Amino acid sequence: MEHVDVLVVGGGLIGLSLAAALRDSALKVTVVDQQPMPSLPEQHAKSREGYALLSGIKPGVSALGITSWTFLNKIAGTIPSTRYDDVEVWDSGTGRVDFGTGEVLGYIVENNRLVAALIEKVGQSIHWAIELTNIEKVDDGYRVCAGDLSWHTRLLVGADGSNSAVRKLVDLPALQWRYDQKGVVTTIETEKPHGNIARQWFTESGVLAFLPLADDHLCSIVYSTSDADDVLALDDAAFSERLGILSEQTLGPALGIDKRFSFPLQQQHSLSYVTSGLALIGDAAHTIHPLAGQGANLGLADAACLSMVIKQAKLEGRSPGDLALLKRYQRERLKDNVATATLMEILFRGFGSQNPGAKWLRSKGMKIVDDSPLLKSMIKRFATSR
Ligand SMILES: Cc1cc2nc3c(=O)[nH]c(=O)nc-3n(C[C@H](O)[C@H](O)[C@H](O)COP(=O)(O)OP(=O)(O)OC[C@H]3O[C@@H](n4cnc5c(N)ncnc54)[C@H](O)[C@@H]3O)c2cc1C
Repeated sequence: MEHVDVLVVGGGLIGLSLAAALRDSALKVTVVDQQPMPSLPEQHAKSREGYALLSGIKPGVSALGITSWTFLNKIAGTIPSTRYDDVEVWDSGTGRVDFGTGEVLGYIVENNRLVAALIEKVGQSIHWAIELTNIEKVDDGYRVCAGDLSWHTRLLVGADGSNSAVRKLVDLPALQWRYDQKGVVTTIETEKPHGNIARQWFTESGVLAFLPLADDHLCSIVYSTSDADDVLALDDAAFSERLGILSEQTLGPALGIDKRFSFPLQQQHSLSYVTSGLALIGDAAHTIHPLAGQGANLGLADAACLSMVIKQAKLEGRSPGDLALLKRYQRERLKDNVATATLMEILFRGFGSQNPGAKWLRSKGMKIVDDSPLLKSMIKRFATSR
């Protein structure tokens, strides 16, 4: 059995970020993931075969705020991304808010490029394609078995996503509910240039986001809707027509559409993120609706905060699994994560309602926000500061 200081279960965006942030800590850190190692996507090449677009861009991008972006650049170097300097939000037919001020609001990154950059930094200490089989509490940490391997670790980190096996194996209770929605994700080629503006429409059938990519005519889209299965079954012409109606033809018709994928959407929050020798981060601790693109931002803030706490433990000669120290991480992150989860729930319920009174309130509210530089800057700071 190998002894390590920190064992991270989950080599997704957040687990790898924690491991990369600990590279300079002189601690022994290992990552395990049940999936095979992801490969670096091909260079972007936009071409069309018949009606379909072959953009070379895998669906799955993150809109990252300035703090997340700065943290990632520090731990993983420069990552290919697209800057956006305006966000426009529509409530179908009733109102619009434009958050643009000419300054950078955030960056769109492709998740698999980001993961590839992090893998390069973390290096040899990742074990791919092995599944967690057992964990057992021992005096100074945990004994962990995955595949044919086993470790003793002083701190076990669950970064294994919303369905976290670590969280379940140690019985940390979580509140969770599924939205009656899935997120349909793809890349489209638009007739008009996106102009580095992120756009979002709250519509009767769900929330549609167009996120600008490096090519001025390519957008990554996320469409959260309760009829996702029917949407996946549409042919490209019918899907393009639906996008045009929902987006009020803002960027003209979709000239090409990549393969579409869907993800179930849920809200989940662990009531506690830590116990002695163990911490949860990212979606393992909290999963939110993607309507404001905050999930990865919250997870990156968890990784940044936990890495600081672990380094502090090392400086003080304490174990990285010291519960008093881990509680510092929980105190700091729980407030922000709960506040954001609450706001997502309010937005989801508020914008989802088609009651005439609620629609009237929304249209008035959006007009008030659009006319108030102070309110806009407060919302902008909340949405982009991470
Ligand atoms: C449609 C959609 C759009 C989104 N858009 C945005 C956005 O614009 N901005 C933003 O900030 N966030 C966004 N999010 C949220 C964001 O994608 C997630 O919050 C983030 O990817 C979570 O990363 P993670 O590493 O915590 O979890 P995951 O990405 O789920 O990674 C978990 C890892 O753990 C591994 N694993 C799982 N179980 C085990 C096991 N038993 N043993 C070993 N390994 C295991 C998995 O293989 C995986 O690699 C979006 C989410 C969705 C669904």
